Amino acid sequence: MVLRRSLHTMASLVDSFGRVHRDLRISVTDRCNLRCTYCMPADGLEWLPREELLTFEEIERIARVLVERAGITSIRLTGGEPTMRANLPALVERLAALRTPSGLSVDLALTTNGVTFDRLASELRSAGLGRVNISLDTLRRDRFIQLARRDELDHVLAGIDAAVAAGFERVKLNAVVMRGVNDDEVVDLASFGRTVGAEVRFIEFMPLDAQRAWDLSAVVTQDEIVDRIAARFPLEPIPRDHAPAERFRYRDGAGTVGVIASVTHAFCASCDRVRLSAEGRFRNCLFAVEELDLRGPLRAGADDDELVALVAGNVARKWAGHQIGQVQFIRPTRSMSQIGG
Ligand code: SAM
Ligand code: SF4
Repeated sequence: MVLRRSLHTMASLVDSFGRVHRDLRISVTDRCNLRCTYCMPADGLEWLPREELLTFEEIERIARVLVERAGITSIRLTGGEPTMRANLPALVERLAALRTPSGLSVDLALTTNGVTFDRLASELRSAGLGRVNISLDTLRRDRFIQLARRDELDHVLAGIDAAVAAGFERVKLNAVVMRGVNDDEVVDLASFGRTVGAEVRFIEFMPLDAQRAWDLSAVVTQDEIVDRIAARFPLEPIPRDHAPAERFRYRDGAGTVGVIASVTHAFCASCDRVRLSAEGRFRNCLFAVEELDLRGPLRAGADDDELVALVAGNVARKWAGHQIGQVQFIRPTRSMSQIGG
């Protein structure tokens, strides 16, 4: 046993800038039950045929190899809308059973739009899901219908209640802020987060919308967001770890709030994330223009060493950063729902 272990390839997912990658985001489907304007078109996006999706066995295999051999310690399931994938708790159970070489379980999280989460929360919690982020861009029903093109705000709010009741280690709320669309709700959303005991993470609008309507003028910057919240609820900064969010504590003790400033304060220098799309393409950056197909080698019988070598080689070639807003920026051809946010 000792001999076999020593023959296995162990690799750190480290790139030429010295960044070590520990966070794997797995998209489990490209489908969605909403059509957020900043992500998907109203219609016309073709779903992947079922046989193109990685099976649960295939997802588990890739995750296992990367956790056991390549230093991945946290996994987030995303999509599309991950809860649209049938039997999601069964996948969570498989991933919750993974162990790092030092015997630790992975930090297992989910990002969801919350629409069906009231029905799934306790089952996912029991299956071993540790943390959940639920997207909430507005508290106004009419605006939700415009933004998500579906009348589902009540279900999302029920999903948030269910998440809080299910006892996850942490519940966070993701809000994409767009100028002239929902930026007048920043303080209301922060206030809602304080009330339900969830950290709201305001996200700068990124050029990943399927309609390609993104424009720098629609981005509400981190500085503006923080100023608006601090004017109502005084804040103090929390020292930054490698997380992408700049986080703040409410001075009155009512919790924390964060901003993910991918556009104005890009956190590429400390990025530790890699991604796997629903059809098994590995991406070393959210904005990567090239992908590594893992499904092909997997289905052709690649062994674990070959998979580790493919992934480590791809990460080694990761670029310095995405350069949004600069002339060099190249927009990925896929939208956020197809990549996995
Ligand atoms: N469907 C789930 C959801 O909405 O939470 C998970 C997938 S979604 C692609 C993941 C996250 O990406 C969500 O928080 C969503 O708001 C965010 N997102 C999508 N398009 C974005 C964009 N153009 N700019 C910034 N964030 C975006
Ligand atoms: Fe669906 Fe999430 Fe994209 Fe909205 S952001 S369309 S909920 S995948």
